[in-house]
Amino acid sequence: MTAVAHHYLNGHRVPGGSRSLPPLQSPVDGTPLGSVPVADAKVVNSAVQAAQKAFQSWSLVPVKDRVQVLYRFKTLAEKNIADLAKQVTAENGKTVAESAAGIQRGVEIVEYAASLPQLFSGDLLEVSTGVDCYTRRFPLGVVAGITPFNFPAMVPMWMFPMAIACGNSFLLKPSEQVPFTPLLLADLLKESGLPDGVFNIVQGDRETVEALLDHPGIAAAAFVGSTPIAKTVYERGIAANKRMLTLGGAKNHLIVVPDADPVITAKNVVSSAVGCAGQRCMAASVLVAVGDCDAILDAIETEMRSLQCGAGLGAIISARAKDRIEGYIARAAGRGAKIRLDGRGQKLAGKEAGHYVGPTLIDGITREDECASDEIFGPVLSILRVKTLDEALAIENANPYGNAACIYTTSGAIARYFEMRAEAGMIGVNIGVPVPRDPFGFGGWNSSKFGPGDITGRDAIGFWTKTKKVTAKWTAKSTNWMS
Ligand code: NAD
Repeated sequence: MTAVAHHYLNGHRVPGGSRSLPPLQSPVDGTPLGSVPVADAKVVNSAVQAAQKAFQSWSLVPVKDRVQVLYRFKTLAEKNIADLAKQVTAENGKTVAESAAGIQRGVEIVEYAASLPQLFSGDLLEVSTGVDCYTRRFPLGVVAGITPFNFPAMVPMWMFPMAIACGNSFLLKPSEQVPFTPLLLADLLKESGLPDGVFNIVQGDRETVEALLDHPGIAAAAFVGSTPIAKTVYERGIAANKRMLTLGGAKNHLIVVPDADPVITAKNVVSSAVGCAGQRCMAASVLVAVGDCDAILDAIETEMRSLQCGAGLGAIISARAKDRIEGYIARAAGRGAKIRLDGRGQKLAGKEAGHYVGPTLIDGITREDECASDEIFGPVLSILRVKTLDEALAIENANPYGNAACIYTTSGAIARYFEMRAEAGMIGVNIGVPVPRDPFGFGGWNSSKFGPGDITGRDAIGFWTKTKKVTAKWTAKSTNWMS
């Protein structure tokens, strides 16, 4: 039985919109999943109105009371993690273990948001005799989050727990490729006691995003997705005088030096490159081997060969994405690169309609190769060989993205040298997916992010609130020009 991924407005699933998108099938095995309506400007306007109404009372609830909803939501998300993970896997294709890990990471953000009463207080200073200056934080109003296909639960959970804990009402526009999981989150928020209208979902595509960005009733929007869209969305939102933070794509370089531990390095590099079938913005994409690292590269190949589609390695989101990834492998082979492991042409018995690409290791690419510059977004690791660490750093720093950069070494001095010079917002030392956990914030540099600050951690409080500065005097006595 297929379903409709309805919108979720004012606590209810509702139909509507300009049109429906082509029916979705599971990337795992082609099972029909259902259809997705596209929220047009009219549906978006209804969502904004519901959210504005809810904001009037939600914003006045003291933060200590607001976060009680999040404590209950955390408990419910943990209790229902198996069902949530099953849904994430059905529509996204990653393994159930990966789906559950994403939800657990989302729950960590809920925990951080629940600690907001400890973080939310303003400052006070007597700035002149008898004159106090102090700050109060206020929510922004109705805010929006626009999310990608690769983490159907986690990326929305980067946004809405903190946004609603700060007192805002929230509109989520999920990826049209994974529209069902957020509806389960909406049900759990309702069960947690969140008032209707504080959390809403508008399903759709570009039309919906543009309606959100153009709506004057929306004060801010966060976006996560590919760089070209992140840039366009940022510019359109800023032009409409919204507060914007948009996270884009990545091309993450992992640098291996000869003194690296081969066992730790091989396992770690491979799990970074192949985990979530390479469809994550923190995935290893280029391995820059400094000097003679052949033993480590052999260990990486052996580790990759031990992984199989359908077991530890999940599906690719769509036939189009699979074709794109396989195109990169084919062209690299055509240019004479050595394909040490070729993941093309995977078909799983009983899941012939699923989309799979096996682990792929391409050796001997040049700096000019498209595999050295493009975000492939599949389980493909390309090896680039250089003589010195400075050469490796120059390659990493010349790439326009700046999400993650990692070094594998047993030398503290080399690690620190790299850490201080690599042009990326998130640095890994012997760790290939260096996701900062709260209170540290998630966010890249350069073309991987538009707008100031990080999307999670401490910066999220600043993003989802505005401060009022009050200067107050309760005495007639003046002691200097300021008082
Ligand atoms: P995408 O850019 O295609 O889509 C993201 C969102 O934008 C979706 O909700 C989609 O409906 C909407 N959208 C698509 N085209 C649009 C347009 N022309 N105008 C307005 N909105 C539009 O991204 P995706 O394929 O869903 O996700 C993969 C990308 O996301 C990769 O590039 C990956 O690196 C990136 N990503 C980045 C991070 C990060 O933290 N930096 C995290 C996860 C994913």
